[in-house]
Amino acid sequence: MDLFKPLDNLEDKKANKNITNVSEKVKCLIIGSGPAGYTAAIYAARANLNPVLYEGLQPGGQLTTTTEVENYPGYPEGVTGPKMMEDFKRQAERFGTDCRFGIATEVDFSGPVHKVIIDGEKVIEAESVIIATGATAKYLGIESETKYAGSGVSACATCDGFFYKNKDVAVVGGGDTACEEALYLSGLCNKVYVIVRKNYLRASKVMQERVFKTPNIKVLFERNTKELRGEQVVEEAVLISKMGTKEESEEVIKIDGFFLAIGHTPNSEPFRKYIETDGVGYIKTKPGTSKTNIPGVFACGDVQDSIYRQAVTAAGSGCQAAIDTERYLSEKK
Ligand code: NDP
Repeated sequence: MDLFKPLDNLEDKKANKNITNVSEKVKCLIIGSGPAGYTAAIYAARANLNPVLYEGLQPGGQLTTTTEVENYPGYPEGVTGPKMMEDFKRQAERFGTDCRFGIATEVDFSGPVHKVIIDGEKVIEAESVIIATGATAKYLGIESETKYAGSGVSACATCDGFFYKNKDVAVVGGGDTACEEALYLSGLCNKVYVIVRKNYLRASKVMQERVFKTPNIKVLFERNTKELRGEQVVEEAVLISKMGTKEESEEVIKIDGFFLAIGHTPNSEPFRKYIETDGVGYIKTKPGTSKTNIPGVFACGDVQDSIYRQAVTAAGSGCQAAIDTERYLSEKK
């Protein structure tokens, strides 16, 4: 999956903005379609708020790039991320949510009624807005990573792992995502390197144990990625071992695929002109609620959660956002 392309599109679409011609009025507009957005939709629809939900760049959100989800209550045998999101969507639609394909490219939250531009052209006037835009995978920022995007570099093992069947690959990162990606790839690939910049994994103990027990996964501690090389596609990675110490040295590993798993950036950019965020860009909400600094605009899920970032916490906060919205709208009457 080429993660760079949609962002280019987004920039193109922003250039077409026209914020004056309102083409539709809605009571409750939900932006984003992960566990937070769909849960907000289920609750809002059942409260007769007639929610309209825009699914965004990645319908179903980050969970559609996850394999097995084992920690979501109600699925004792586990479930795949895409299947779970399909179920969430069906449940939201069952109660009348209008789910649409499209992205919010700009907003105007300066007045009592909130304006949201969809796909750079359609202006929606919303009495209330629920932001559930989630977070996006981070890249290292090295030049060769962009050069080989879609040609050996990926931020989604579930989407692209299949292309590396029986090949050697590397996963960068030391958190739960990196371990999960490495375990998934270990079932498809010949060998999986995990490149970790520190001398320990940050992942939960259970994930670490699974990684260490898997014979075709090799964890390379205290390694930083300097560059990727190859004719047309990735063929090798140049790593720096023990960077910044006396023992610093370079090594080359032969790989066909390079998977990023180093964390995420909150997707709050279109809202930052009006909505308060922290230093990283996570939307600030009033403690214990989904309320942002703008009345009638609520936030839920990973776009406002730098701590828990779980499907179940995102769903819980989506429920809060819908209840906060319902109360806001009934107080306004
Ligand atoms: P984390 O922030 O937990 O981990 C990011 C990892 O990437 C760290 O090891 C970090 O290293 C490393 N890293 C960051 N920047 C760089 C860089 N520039 N170069 C090299 N390495 C870098 O992110 P995750 O996405 O793994 O997890 C996010 C949250 O989601 C966590 O709370 C996690 O528990 C949860 N999660 C749970 C899952 C599950 O339960 N099944 C699955 C996936 C995620 P360092 O340690 O040095 O900072």
